[in-house]
Amino acid sequence: MLFTLDPEQIAIADMAREFSDARIAPHALEWDEKRRFPVDVLRAAAGLGMAGIYTREEHGGSGLSRLDAALIFEALATGCPCVSAYLSIHNMCAWMIDAYGDDAQRAKWLPPLMRMDVLSSYCLTEPGSGSDAAALSTRARREGDVYVLDGQKQFISGAGNADDFYIVMARTGEAGSRGISCLVVEGGTKGLSFGANERKMGWNAQPTRAVIFAGARVPVANRLGAEGDGFRIAMSGLDGGRLNIGACSLGGGQAALDKALAYMRDRKAFGKRLDEFQALQFRLADMATELECARTFLWRAAASLDAKAPDATRLCAMAKRVATDTGFKVANDALQLLGGYGYLADYGVEKIVRDLRVHQILEGTNEIMRLIVARGLVER
Ligand SMILES: Cc1cc2nc3c(=O)[nH]c(=O)nc-3n(C[C@H](O)[C@H](O)[C@H](O)COP(=O)(O)OP(=O)(O)OC[C@H]3O[C@@H](n4cnc5c(N)ncnc54)[C@H](O)[C@@H]3O)c2cc1C
Repeated sequence: MLFTLDPEQIAIADMAREFSDARIAPHALEWDEKRRFPVDVLRAAAGLGMAGIYTREEHGGSGLSRLDAALIFEALATGCPCVSAYLSIHNMCAWMIDAYGDDAQRAKWLPPLMRMDVLSSYCLTEPGSGSDAAALSTRARREGDVYVLDGQKQFISGAGNADDFYIVMARTGEAGSRGISCLVVEGGTKGLSFGANERKMGWNAQPTRAVIFAGARVPVANRLGAEGDGFRIAMSGLDGGRLNIGACSLGGGQAALDKALAYMRDRKAFGKRLDEFQALQFRLADMATELECARTFLWRAAASLDAKAPDATRLCAMAKRVATDTGFKVANDALQLLGGYGYLADYGVEKIVRDLRVHQILEGTNEIMRLIVARGLVER
């Protein structure tokens, strides 16, 4: 196993980092403060192939690997974890269309998704079912060649624009995971509406809303896969989503560490620069080491997903848990190293801490990641 990136991978990471430095980082604090969703910048990223990173080339995507995607999401997240994370969700949705759609569905939906003319959302969580996602109760009742949808999805990232695109897990059959199907609900569908943009601790540069279905009529032709395949499709999307969110945490953690290093070079206490105190150097060394460990392991998990290895789901769950815990801890440690200034918005570290906190909760909480890992350890 080689632990080096090849020249193409280095070029991909550099391209994403340059984009992040130029188009994302300078505006991240303002987007957070004003709760602005920078769709124009997302479209510019799409212009560089970042809306369909691992969508196949023959279907308009970039045809890159999960490891390449991890490099890109980490680089983008150094500018803003929240913007990078939304792009990750969009990539996950586009991949689901590529992987599970038929030719007609790909031809219809992928071109606008690749340009981000249309933004996509992943709708699994409901008010009454989060971690226990297979207990969802949004109902899709078949009437001839349409499904009639009733129910509510909760916490849906990016939701709220009339012309967007929603991948919705809904119950078409029995209780439990086998009675769930995956439907595409297009913006503008009658009976589709949205809750208010939630007020949140972080992730303010993207909206989070309830998505409500009241007799929404969705063509049967909008179903991905067969009836009853929805839960399997939803979970397979999340393997990659978890890698991406882990990579976003690494990018945020790295940016916070870099900010702390820059600050400590200038700040003096007791007649010395902060970075001359050995106790603080040891803290910095631990932060850098923990990030590197998490990054190396995340790349290993990404390689396992690329190789379709049988233990890929378990490795992705491990990587999500480790990378999101590490990114948050490193960012929080960085905040401490800036003293009182770390707590001020203008220094940019507290925003990273606020953004990274939710990565331990979404795409499956870190308790659920442990549950997935433990399943393979403990006989039932
Ligand atoms: C900002 C934001 C954006 C989100 N975006 C999306 C999105 O785009 N699409 C989407 O579908 N969802 C989204 N979510 C939802 C997210 O995935 C859920 O919040 C998450 O899965 C947890 O579900 P819950 O909030 O209902 O918590 P619960 O499932 O009620 O869990 C509460 C607590 O109990 C713990 N717990 C539950 N079951 C167990 C168990 N068996 N063993 C041990 N501990 C357990 C959990 O880990 C957690 O700590 C988003 C959430 C947030 C906050």
